[in-house]
Amino acid sequence: MTKTILATGGAGYIGSHVTLELLTSGYEVVVFDNLSNSSAKSIERVSRITNGAPHFIEGDVRDASALDHLFETFSIDAVIHLAGLKAVGESVAHPERYYDVNVAGSTTLFNAMFRHNVKHAVFSSSATVYGEPETMPLTESSPTGPLNPYGATKLMVEQILQDITGASPGWRSMILRYFNPVGAHVSGEIGEDPLGFPNNLFPFIAQVATGHRDLLQIFGDDYNTADGTAIRDYIHVMDLARGHVKAIDYLLANESKENSTPIVNLGTGVGSSVKEVLIAWEQACGFPIKSEITARRAGDVQISYADAQKAKELLGWETLYDLPRMCKDHWRWQKGNPEGYR
Ligand code: NAD
Ligand code: UDP
Repeated sequence: MTKTILATGGAGYIGSHVTLELLTSGYEVVVFDNLSNSSAKSIERVSRITNGAPHFIEGDVRDASALDHLFETFSIDAVIHLAGLKAVGESVAHPERYYDVNVAGSTTLFNAMFRHNVKHAVFSSSATVYGEPETMPLTESSPTGPLNPYGATKLMVEQILQDITGASPGWRSMILRYFNPVGAHVSGEIGEDPLGFPNNLFPFIAQVATGHRDLLQIFGDDYNTADGTAIRDYIHVMDLARGHVKAIDYLLANESKENSTPIVNLGTGVGSSVKEVLIAWEQACGFPIKSEITARRAGDVQISYADAQKAKELLGWETLYDLPRMCKDHWRWQKGNPEGYR
């Protein structure tokens, strides 16, 4: 029988790709999103690509009665909880918003799951929970120590989900710690559409490439790395989406096993510097991208990349796409949709 997955935040950048991948893997999907950082057009386009419309409900994860209505309308087998706020700088300026949406929103959702006997959850966490550990690569047992309220909310919800799952018969959950999601579906129809000023490297370069921004500022070339620029583990959003399907397959296939909440890194295991990313982008779009070196960005870690072994062992998941492919796919989306979904 077809299983139905609730994707909170399913209209967003990662959520739309996860929804697409779930549909093409034979799941039914209900998207629940308040569209505060996304457009319903992403869902329309996912429907077009898959010929299998996901259900879409506009609503807020802090709204218990909206969640009750959803769980009464659909028989949900598992939840992927992607909804949340994700801008690090905003979380420093307005931590109250982050604790409200990310933490209170999550507990409201988990309580609704309790009321409706839904016992499987996958949570979108982040490599940002690691802070700045001294040794690389980052394994799931590397020390945590988030450097900002956004990271703190992710670590809190991890703990909440682990506690709930451990204490509740029949519950099985998984925490996915994403590294740096980039790229877009190969169709070029869905992709990242930041509202306002893009904070992250890929969307910023993409907007320089389309002429919407003058130049890329490279935040520091005095790090202790080969070319002096900081290193991250960029992961293609379709690899990430496939990781979610594997996580759901795993939870639903092991229903009889005792309740647990594995933590799993989703990264490639390969680190790339800002300069390496810039070169790969220039090759993808076929022209130079203007840049200048500026000061380091406050709060940035020098190096971050995953040990991806656990995902391979537990889920049989490995990434398929390399950096040139990430840039190529991101550029296809950006070139075809220079104004995003607007
Ligand atoms: P996104 O902003 O594109 O998607 C989040 C979605 O949640 C949006 O569609 C937004 O409208 C929705 N949303 C926000 N508040 C809501 C609320 N109160 N009720 C219902 N819906 C709400 O971001 P994304 O990049 O797709 O991130 C998805 C998840 O992955 C987030 O939880 C984020 O913290 C996490 N994550 C993202 C990254 C990244 O670099 N993009 C890295 C690690 C973890
Ligand atoms: N970066 C940069 N210029 C930008 C945006 C980002 O040089 O306009 C650098 C940033 O300092 C970091 C890397 O690119 O070293 C990735 O940044 P992003 O914000 O995408 O990811 P995060 O730092 O959150 O891992």
